Amino acid sequence: MEVKNVKGTKDVYGKEVNGFQYVESVMRAVSELYGFEELRTPVIEHSEVFVRGVGEGSDVVRKEMYTFLDKGGRSLTMRPEFTAGIIRSIVQNKFYATRDLPLKFYYSGPVFRYERPQLGRYRQFNQFGVELVGQNSAQTDAEIIILGYMILKTLGFENLTLKINTLGDDSSRDEYKHALKDFFSQHIDNMCSDCKSRFELNPLRILDCKVPEDKEIVKHAPKINEYLSEEARNRFEYVCSILEYMEIPFEVDDTLVRGLDYYSETVFEFHYTSSKGQNYGAIGAGGHYDKLVKEFGGPDLHGVGFSFGIERVVSVMTDDELLQDDANPLINYIIPISEDQHIPALALATALRVEGFKTEICYDGTKLGTMVKKAVKKNAKFALIIGEDEVENNAVVIKTLETGEQETVEFKDIIDYIDTKLGNDEHHCECGCCDDEEHHEDHCCCGRHKKEN
Ligand code: AMP
Repeated sequence: MEVKNVKGTKDVYGKEVNGFQYVESVMRAVSELYGFEELRTPVIEHSEVFVRGVGEGSDVVRKEMYTFLDKGGRSLTMRPEFTAGIIRSIVQNKFYATRDLPLKFYYSGPVFRYERPQLGRYRQFNQFGVELVGQNSAQTDAEIIILGYMILKTLGFENLTLKINTLGDDSSRDEYKHALKDFFSQHIDNMCSDCKSRFELNPLRILDCKVPEDKEIVKHAPKINEYLSEEARNRFEYVCSILEYMEIPFEVDDTLVRGLDYYSETVFEFHYTSSKGQNYGAIGAGGHYDKLVKEFGGPDLHGVGFSFGIERVVSVMTDDELLQDDANPLINYIIPISEDQHIPALALATALRVEGFKTEICYDGTKLGTMVKKAVKKNAKFALIIGEDEVENNAVVIKTLETGEQETVEFKDIIDYIDTKLGNDEHHCECGCCDDEEHHEDHCCCGRHKKEN
């Protein structure tokens, strides 16, 4: 039997896994700067969470969910997105009653959608996102957009395209939906079968259709702009003015409606075309929502959030060489000459690892030259060779692989030797207070920063 991965899923390893870890760590760190903390919700939820949360009219619920009956006959779904589960958790744990508002959570993990796999589109993929719940304002909409933008900037993205739109408030949207129904009723017979269902369930969704002939028709559809209430228009203009003030470039795209039914008012997407010209689709997207918390039985709280597709972010960063080759290179490769030195090698490796140096041991027991070649192939900085004599003398031969230079170093001096070779002994405080010659023993000159070396 040939055992293969499931269509639309993939194994992530090597450089790509480094990319995932780096991207996720930046996303976490920047979100924490904005006061967000992590919330981990289960991968499986009762199907109702997504049917009610994401909306019956959405493609995700209509045809993309991995839904199954468990052995107890419950209908469960593997999350196709995070927001509904996060809101379910907020309501169930009554965070709105026990914590200050707004609640600010970020999340990270796999999601599952039964879509047609293609470039940048998988059936299992990873999302990182944030939700801010319990404050309803143009300012928080803008702050969330700014957070998304800052994450991408920190990752090194230039020439981003930020598209934003408003879906207006309920009354604007109801009027707009009527106008869309009127318009599409003259065309729907010639449109795709998905659009036919969208016409019945939620005509807004038609604006999102990717079929080229349908897109032509959509171009002539009425625009939300003409149906906005004064309040909704003011709010959107306020969001835009904040972005302008912050000098964040954006374009208003009045066909942007997002695929999930819960959005209202501000919606946005981040796009980026890599220098290779590959377009992976939106790398991140989000918006404001006003009914989700109530839908799950909680109070009348609004929220705003976004979600990045990690695979897409890593793909464009790989194309544009925005990822470091090896973010965590091997420092030491310890080569015991024979089995007799395996235990001292292990002890030495442990001491080096405790000091934070990435270290491996070669247990091959082959010719020294072969083992040194292996160290070079592994891109290690140093080969630490231990033979019988070295153990006898409490020392090790350290070969700097880049220069070929080698020295015998006593065990007690190894850490200092490596630190010096790596240039780690030149301590500079981030604030620059130590840039002068005078260093204090165990703290920086300014006294605010702990001296590390
Ligand atoms: P959504 O939850 O649909 O708003 O999607 C948020 C982000 O997830 C998108 O901007 C994409 O970056 C990513 N994404 C959505 N669907 C897929 C998919 N099938 N495969 C990979 N990434 C996806």
